[in-house]
Amino acid sequence: MTPLKEILTRRIAVEGPMSLAEYMGLCLMHPQYGYYPTRDPLGAAGDFTTAPEISQMFGELLGLCLAQCWLDQGRPSRFVLAELGPGRGTLMADALRAMRAVPGLVEAAELHLVETSPRLRAEQAARLSGAAPVWQDSVAALPEAPLFLIANEFFDALPIRQFVRAGQGWAERVVGLRDGVLSFGLTEPAAQAALAHRLADTQEGDLVETCAPGQGIAAEIGRRIAARGGAALIVDYGDWHSLGDTLQALRAHERAAPLETPGEADLTAHVDFEALALAAPCAHTKLTPQGVFLERLGITDRARALARGLSGAALDSHVAAHRRLTHPGEMGSVFKTLGFFPEGAPPPPGLLT
Ligand code: SAH
Repeated sequence: MTPLKEILTRRIAVEGPMSLAEYMGLCLMHPQYGYYPTRDPLGAAGDFTTAPEISQMFGELLGLCLAQCWLDQGRPSRFVLAELGPGRGTLMADALRAMRAVPGLVEAAELHLVETSPRLRAEQAARLSGAAPVWQDSVAALPEAPLFLIANEFFDALPIRQFVRAGQGWAERVVGLRDGVLSFGLTEPAAQAALAHRLADTQEGDLVETCAPGQGIAAEIGRRIAARGGAALIVDYGDWHSLGDTLQALRAHERAAPLETPGEADLTAHVDFEALALAAPCAHTKLTPQGVFLERLGITDRARALARGLSGAALDSHVAAHRRLTHPGEMGSVFKTLGFFPEGAPPPPGLLT
């Protein structure tokens, strides 16, 4: 039994079942035994890999996309450049390198990284020391200024709740004990104000997910962009309008059972981009497949330029990385991008309204 499994089992035995959000929050962020605080989960030796770890082109293009937003909005002389959940800091390092080509931009930027894991903060410090980053625990702690923000595979790590339709109410899926073993159960059905709008498009037994922390963060980002300008690029797997159980555990690049090894597997859920867009009081773009977004930003030209300096195995892996990021059968259509921007300003390049 993992140490966290023991803690959770004892606690549920005393206090009763906990919501899935509470379970996910403890598995991912328990200060001593949580998944993120105890490891660097990225890369070949870890449990999963992400777009910026696959190729430098990803961070470069997202950086240039934000740079164009900055130009379009009259080059604010001081702004917050922020990343949520920067992992190893790779994306931001690539973005900053590309953004240096735009005169005056990096000088106007104050870099803020929203990251809770001390372990990953250290990784980020190692890659971004030249840019003097400031770390924050939450979006609310960012200084009030125009906000240009990137979040790649951040919202999928936030705790969700799951509800099963039962008549005109909802039974919540909770984590309890059956014969002393962690197992899923359902509460008695009750009305849920937050799900009133889902009574129209669901049937008895359908499961819907909510992510209150994600909506709160989107609301805070949107408020700042509406009030002071800026833009946000949110990249993740998910869809518009969630339906069905998308909770997933990954360990050593393999699917695992979500209740089997708490604290030792990554737990994620698909992002309901509609809920984020509705929560943000600023303009938003259409949800756009990652492959389409990167093609519109010119990834093929960038890939050709980089290929000229490569040969042999390095060239093969570069070509494979380009395909992996953009091909619909790989990350190109499972991952999607949503942009936030101020009403009346041009949308971020590569995204349509
Ligand atoms: N964006 C990176 C890493 C994705 S992994 C990449 O694309 O490679 C998820 C990241 O979000 C990790 O850095 C993790 O520590 C961070 N994270 C997860 N939940 C968080 C929370 N509630 N607040 C701040 N950071 C969080």
